[in-house]
Amino acid sequence: MPDEKSGSGAPATAMVAVVQVYRRDAPGDWWPEGKDVFQLLWCPNVHWDPPAPHADVSPVVEIRWRSSADVTRVLGSPPLPVRQEEPDYGYTPVRCALTAVPLVDFPYPQALPDGELVKSVEKYAEATGGEGDVITRVAGIKFGGWPTWHLTDPCEVPCHTCGAPCRLLFTVASDDTTGITVGRWGDFRVFTCPDSDGHGYVFDQH
Ligand SMILES: [Zn+2]
Ligand SMILES: [Zn+2]
Repeated sequence: MPDEKSGSGAPATAMVAVVQVYRRDAPGDWWPEGKDVFQLLWCPNVHWDPPAPHADVSPVVEIRWRSSADVTRVLGSPPLPVRQEEPDYGYTPVRCALTAVPLVDFPYPQALPDGELVKSVEKYAEATGGEGDVITRVAGIKFGGWPTWHLTDPCEVPCHTCGAPCRLLFTVASDDTTGITVGRWGDFRVFTCPDSDGHGYVFDQH
């Protein structure tokens, strides 16, 4: 992507790898057929007004689904990204390895349709959380589950193509270990349309 602080919008900078996950480590119905590697890259620089389907000030993202069997040659010296420092944002992750942990995630209790269910999930959250709720909208780097809502009540995220409510595909959380900071210590979320793979993604941070 061309970057904001370059008057001409050029040169574009190389994106940085944020996360790579193998299918064997995070099995789920989100994998396209024949693909076994998920890669999320983003531009290391802040884009104040990024193009759709990104929200304002959202990192500009590229998602790749790959087949590891097709990767026969690896670039020995990939082009280096050029980071234009914005101290409030951590878009250059610290190199680290992820450990996959299966978990059960609950939605924001108030988003549940049934009053009794809301109460029982809230009770469960109290009983398990100690200092706070640790079972609903679990933070961290995760596939699937439920979106976090730090700033507002939950709302639907409509598909840019057909308007259907999208579901959460992937979350990148602000985190000290990875050095990632998005928004106000928020989460970067990737949503997909349930109707069609061809409808692209909705990127959002919250
Ligand atoms: Zn950029
Ligand atoms: Zn759609």
